[in-house]
Amino acid sequence: MHAFTVDLEDWYHGIPLSGNQKSKIEHRLLVGLEPLLQLLSTSNTTATFFILGEVAKKYPTILKVLKCLGHELACHGLTHDFVYNLTPAQFKRDTSYCVRLIEDIIGSPVYGYRAPYFSITEQSLWALEILSELGIQYDSSIMPVQSWRYGITNYGNQWRKLKYPSGSLWEIPITVRSWVGPSIPVSGGAYFRIYPYELTKRNIQWCESQSLNAVFYIHPWELDSTHPKIPFEWRAHITHYYNLSNTRKKLNQLLAEFKFASLSSILNQLIVKDTL
Ligand SMILES: [Zn+2]
Repeated sequence: MHAFTVDLEDWYHGIPLSGNQKSKIEHRLLVGLEPLLQLLSTSNTTATFFILGEVAKKYPTILKVLKCLGHELACHGLTHDFVYNLTPAQFKRDTSYCVRLIEDIIGSPVYGYRAPYFSITEQSLWALEILSELGIQYDSSIMPVQSWRYGITNYGNQWRKLKYPSGSLWEIPITVRSWVGPSIPVSGGAYFRIYPYELTKRNIQWCESQSLNAVFYIHPWELDSTHPKIPFEWRAHITHYYNLSNTRKKLNQLLAEFKFASLSSILNQLIVKDTL
């Protein structure tokens, strides 16, 4: 069983926009979300949706629909900012607000958190203790390979229970595959679009051979290949727009060949197994 996770945000949330661009932006969340929900429904898959606070405010009904469909709702931050650019006080205030916002809309507790841009790094590890103070049970924000925006090299795939004076928190890193050289992400997001499908498949099979639960992630806008093309930083631009038209077909194959579930359901099973 592997974890299927969705970062619920619109196509422009991960892009730096000027005030003028923001005021004229085209909102298209549903264009990619509808086919994604269809694929999940067809394959009888429940997923974890990490909800951006700005999305929760704008589309409360979508959150209620996701809950009714049996998906897990978790927190993706209030605004799509790098955690390491926030102060601990700002992070605590914004995350607390976002968690309560989602909980008030769906009427049940939020257990999970994922930082925008996987931005819990060596610089912002302080955020994990704050999440524990806020009552969050697990975090899935650490990418164990280095990119220009995120990553903690050699963090590894192990799901760790971190203990703090305020309580404990599970850290569930994004899964990476170790090679002779540097590790590579198993799949998800731009990696899923850039890799040939066969590589994703072999990486997940490798996880199974190692008894690892792969953590897969995707965004609704990755199923919306015709969203507006605007110029921004070249590395982010390439990874954002690359091969969007194949996401749907690849996801269909992935969901047909592997069994996925929400993060909290896999974590609960592991905790139960551990205590038996
Ligand atoms: Zn995001």
